[in-house]
Amino acid sequence: MNFFDKLREYRKTITEIENSVYGNKQDYLEIYERNLELEKEIAARTQELNIANKRMLTLQHIWEMMNSARPLESVLETIVNSLQGELGYLHSTILRKQTDEKGEFLSVIAEAENPVIKRVNNIINIPMQMRRLNYIENSIYAEALNEKKITTIKNIDRALREIIPDMPEDTFNQVMRGMRSKLLINIPLYTRNRPFGLFCVFSSRDELAESETDFLTIFAQQIEMAITIADLFQAVREQAVTDALTGLYNRRYFEEYISKEVTRSLRQKQPFSVIGLDLDFLKKINDEYGHAYGDLAIKTVADVLKKNARSIDVAARMGGEEFNILLSGIDSTGAMAAAERIRKAIEERELDTIGHITASIGAATFLEHSDSLDELLELTDQAMYQSKRNGRNQVTLAKPITETSWQEIAVNTFLDILSKHNVHIEKSLSEELSAKLQSINEQTEMPKEILYSTADMLTKSYNPLHEQGVVKSKILLASSLAKRFDLSKDEIDKLRIAILLYDIGNLMLPKEILQKSSPLTDEERSQIQMHPLIAAREILQPISYIQDIIPIIEHHHENWDGTGYPGKIAKDDIPITSQIILIVDAYFALTEHRPYRAKLSAIDALNEIKKDTGKKWSEALVQEFVTLIGQDLN
Ligand code: GH3
Ligand code: MG
Repeated sequence: MNFFDKLREYRKTITEIENSVYGNKQDYLEIYERNLELEKEIAARTQELNIANKRMLTLQHIWEMMNSARPLESVLETIVNSLQGELGYLHSTILRKQTDEKGEFLSVIAEAENPVIKRVNNIINIPMQMRRLNYIENSIYAEALNEKKITTIKNIDRALREIIPDMPEDTFNQVMRGMRSKLLINIPLYTRNRPFGLFCVFSSRDELAESETDFLTIFAQQIEMAITIADLFQAVREQAVTDALTGLYNRRYFEEYISKEVTRSLRQKQPFSVIGLDLDFLKKINDEYGHAYGDLAIKTVADVLKKNARSIDVAARMGGEEFNILLSGIDSTGAMAAAERIRKAIEERELDTIGHITASIGAATFLEHSDSLDELLELTDQAMYQSKRNGRNQVTLAKPITETSWQEIAVNTFLDILSKHNVHIEKSLSEELSAKLQSINEQTEMPKEILYSTADMLTKSYNPLHEQGVVKSKILLASSLAKRFDLSKDEIDKLRIAILLYDIGNLMLPKEILQKSSPLTDEERSQIQMHPLIAAREILQPISYIQDIIPIIEHHHENWDGTGYPGKIAKDDIPITSQIILIVDAYFALTEHRPYRAKLSAIDALNEIKKDTGKKWSEALVQEFVTLIGQDLN
């Protein structure tokens, strides 16, 4: 606005000049010089206007961020990053003032990403984000916050010492040596009239211009608004017990309710049941008719659940296309009847455009199938998956966990993996293996043998040198070794399943790397080293009933001396079952042929293994292993 006034003023001046040219007929040269001066000023003003415009863009950006559903930290990060490079600011960060049992402190809740902070974090080892920063009265930070005013300090040295007083001198000097910031500006942040923290801006200029104060104040107001709004969102989200799309209870409410139900059930010795339901082929509906029709299918299921639930039942949408119903006081017979009623009601609905939909259902009963809540939900899930595998649109009752053999768990796991689309398995192989696993009940062949050959074939799909029968030998050897360590049957069963699965992550590695004959690059090696993690996290994590097998797999490349990966844990922190896999795997690798070396004899392989005693594996493990193989050799 000021600018336009100015502009008007200038225009007036120009008119005057023009008048003077034409009217007063002044000296030509003088006019020329005055014009030049004017042009210079206008150029300067235009630049100012440009900067002002840029500021407006920054604010607009923040506004967009606030309207999105992103969590507070990432909104704030975007805000500080948007200041990057503006007006000579080198770095900015938002500190929150907090209190714990040790007193008041500051912590970084957002920080711009730039070379300045990267350099500092590299020098100080523990990044700023991870630190509990000092907050003392009389510090420049406290001054800004208490007096609710912008403070500036040219002495960056002092500013840093005040928040990290215990930094070693040489580290400190190193940080200061590369410091280009000439001024730290602290802007207090208040939300709902309470001190929140500070917005700290490092400037390359050692003066704070007046207009800059306004700008930073407005900027800080945007931050305060973002914080307030994020807090409100959070509060609303936490209070909600229903799901917005369906009006059913949400996961949070279901989980809260069911844990109370457990207490009630144990006290009154009364069962309750859980029905787990998953819509069939929702992805196909989304793909064929669009997301809105997918939503319609979800809402239809919700409607059926509402109509079929008694007032004391809790029907919840657990997320996506997954629903749970808690039936208070109902045993498995009642649960099966209710589940079947629901299944039928869904199947009978006629939907616009889509036609008919179906759902796969599992049911389990507390006290009958299990008296642990986690296990009960796991069993419900397993039963639901069983319905999917048997052809969908059906109800399956859970089996008590004690009756489920490790073979069954393994068969289900393989079927789950094969039915997901995130691993690279050739379609024909995947279908062949699925069919074989599914027909286990009708086959005369032992389920174990089918499992072993499935694992062999999957391994062969990424490692053509893998020989049939090796998986079986590994399992036999590993379980004999486990018995020597007095592991329980339960532990040994987990170990067996882990052996079937521990290298499954290789299915996600690029074939070019796995089969490369030339030496691997560092990048490729680290990719290969990630495989236990990839396996555990990405492929197995979604399979609820094998959660306690994941840690065994995740640590099967840890070394006894802590030099392994991915956790770099050592000694007894490593599960013994992981150590068993490590040594068995090494032994088989040594006694197999590899492109880069001949296979070793059993004796030579044992000698190689002994060399790493105390490094890769414990002395006790090597001793038992050598004795075990020795028995075989004699
Ligand atoms: P299956 O019979 O094996 O359950 O097949 P599916 O396609 O139903 O299952 P899958 O797990 O492969 O895919 C689930 C899909 O559901 C993927 C996801 O995009 C979609 N989905 C999840 N939540 C919603 C939602 O709220 N609305 C819509 N329209 N789709 C959703
Ligand atoms: Mg589904």
